[in-house]
Amino acid sequence: MKKIVTVLGARPQFIKASVVSHAIAAAGDLREIVIHTGQHFDANMSDVFFEELGMAAPAHQLSIHGGGHGAMTGRMLAEVERLLLIERPDAVLVYGDTNSTLAGALAAVKLHIPVAHVEAGLRSFNMAMPEEVNRILTDRISRWLFTPTHAAEHHLMSEGAAAERVIPVGDVMYDVALHHGQRASAFNGVMRQLELKSASFALVTVHRAENTDQPERLAMVASALESVADHIPVVWPVHPRTRAELMRQGRLDGLATRIKLIEPVGYLDMVQLEMSAAVIATDSGGVQKEAFFHGVPCVTLRNETEWTELLTSGWNRLAPPVSVDVIRDAVLDAIGTRGDSISPYGLGDAAQRIVRQLSVDLLA
Ligand code: UDP
Repeated sequence: MKKIVTVLGARPQFIKASVVSHAIAAAGDLREIVIHTGQHFDANMSDVFFEELGMAAPAHQLSIHGGGHGAMTGRMLAEVERLLLIERPDAVLVYGDTNSTLAGALAAVKLHIPVAHVEAGLRSFNMAMPEEVNRILTDRISRWLFTPTHAAEHHLMSEGAAAERVIPVGDVMYDVALHHGQRASAFNGVMRQLELKSASFALVTVHRAENTDQPERLAMVASALESVADHIPVVWPVHPRTRAELMRQGRLDGLATRIKLIEPVGYLDMVQLEMSAAVIATDSGGVQKEAFFHGVPCVTLRNETEWTELLTSGWNRLAPPVSVDVIRDAVLDAIGTRGDSISPYGLGDAAQRIVRQLSVDLLA
């Protein structure tokens, strides 16, 4: 039996890990130990996903959050290293592009433990994003680069990654959507509470640093959404970081009179909202794809996206937060549109492919 340590800490990582952890448990020849760094720690940013997606509680909880990127990543690095020296795993598994991803990968590689990176090869080509730095560095030091799309594969190859490290598997978020989508469609929590009817509202999420850490950008997004709300109800589950900045700007109370501002919701509620929305406006990577999975037009509130196949196929369009009119018009114009029929995220068996490859290589 080989041992894998998974290092995770942020909301999208719990969701991605849910399917891979189940596949590891089903494989029989691998054992998984989970380290939760504590990057996201509120019940509705963390615990709810473990409960709803049927995941075991993490074996180790580090409770590291807050502070600057360097301080947070540094503390995680030291603590993950300490635990890896105790656990002595055969491989370390990390997801996506957060500080927890980089800290887990770096701690492992320095102890000569091979690293598996799920969602490898994504690039925004914007080094000002903390995520871009985290993903490039993690890819560079990973033994297994599990790619979600052809574009991701292409980026790694053009950066010179050895072909045997690059393993196309598809997107684990597609697996999750297939696996839990049916449950979400029967889930009737937040939709009923908010008295929402299907296709009658715009769903919004905003949490990227490029929007929340630039006060004028967030103010512009908020004003544009107020303007959208003159035409169609707007539902916005507000990320804790975004809530703090809106509060600081004195915008929260005024916004709440025009927009349904709610706390972050669990995965099933979120998918229910996504499936039922007329349009989704977001700066989230995961939500862009989920909009596509559920056939809902999406507007991305960023200058660029890693999920370019959704732009070229017409399911998504960029609305950089540079003016209220650009955002409002993009959101209203997207309603009722559909993109081409494409299938860029694999077959819904990415988790199994990842685990099969790890089993083969670790047990060889
Ligand atoms: N999500 C959720 N509740 C919310 C907002 C998002 O469950 O209130 C889910 C969403 O469905 C998706 C994931 O969180 O599966 C996306 O995570 P996030 O936007 O935090 O990060 P990103 O995907 O941008 O890395």
